[in-house]
Amino acid sequence: MNEDNRIPLAAVIGSPVAHSRSPALFAYWLKRYDLKGSYIPIDVAHMDLRQVLGTMPMMGFVGANVTIPHKEAVLKIADIVTDRAALIGAANTLIFRKDGRIHADNTDGAGFIANLRQHAPNWDPQSGPAAVIGAGGAARAVIAALIEVGVPEIRISNRTRLRAETLRSDFGAKLSVYDWVQAGNMMEDCATVVNASSLGMVGKPEFKIPLDALKPGAVVNDLVYTPLRTHFLDEAEARGAIAVDGLGMLLHQAAPGFERWFGKRPDVDEDTRQAILGA
Ligand code: NAP
Repeated sequence: MNEDNRIPLAAVIGSPVAHSRSPALFAYWLKRYDLKGSYIPIDVAHMDLRQVLGTMPMMGFVGANVTIPHKEAVLKIADIVTDRAALIGAANTLIFRKDGRIHADNTDGAGFIANLRQHAPNWDPQSGPAAVIGAGGAARAVIAALIEVGVPEIRISNRTRLRAETLRSDFGAKLSVYDWVQAGNMMEDCATVVNASSLGMVGKPEFKIPLDALKPGAVVNDLVYTPLRTHFLDEAEARGAIAVDGLGMLLHQAAPGFERWFGKRPDVDEDTRQAILGA
């Protein structure tokens, strides 16, 4: 079989990677659209990352998603890095080009925006400030995306204040840093509030930031999707906010890779959600 007749292969690379829902998602889409292809989880140690990525194209891989802990390291290995991946400082989608070069992009921010637009269709990011809790890789992607859609002001708060200060110097004057004890107060008058920390995730401490300042009608999004329905979302909804869970971001961030590798833009709809929830 010559190279062009190969069945396309793609993967998610991380360590650990067994928990990833991406293989189930890709398997669902491949079956749904009756496409030839395969998508597998590959557990790669940091020291082997460059060698593994160099070998994958020879094996028929056309690309890969990247997850913890390699999202930052792949930027140094890739030949072409998109502006948004460079700004975020991490990539989650690699394309192995026919000319042998590795192209790295970050689709987390686009996935975040698509999720809010789908589940809060009246969301107007320009109608007021946004508050972001957390300052890790996910927060960086969210902030880059919020700036791109024209949010007038972004308030951030993080347990480790220095990380939030770094975000401010990387992303500029639209950002202001609030002390961790002020994280609740920074939500005042915000049109958008995002938990981009791991608080509330299974195995992590509960999200206990007070929501008294939250404006009714604000769009509230938890990036945490295990559990799907978090205490933060329940509390926010009880206060009149529009609550959006984090699963949609996971589904939407995967769509560009699927399209590129397997040739079909997949639908991110209720059937897709149910397939992943039941997997
Ligand atoms: P990360 O880079 O490790 O950052 C973790 C963030 O959570 C940091 O801001 C950290 O604060 C904070 N944090 C952790 N434990 C905490 C605690 N006990 N108290 C207060 N803050 C704490 O991780 P990430 O990649 O940004 O991911 C963050 C969350 O987003 C995770 O739950 C992840 O599953 C979720 N996520 C979801 C999607 C999606 O598609 N829905 C995509 C990406 C990430 P410090 O700086 O003080 O450590």
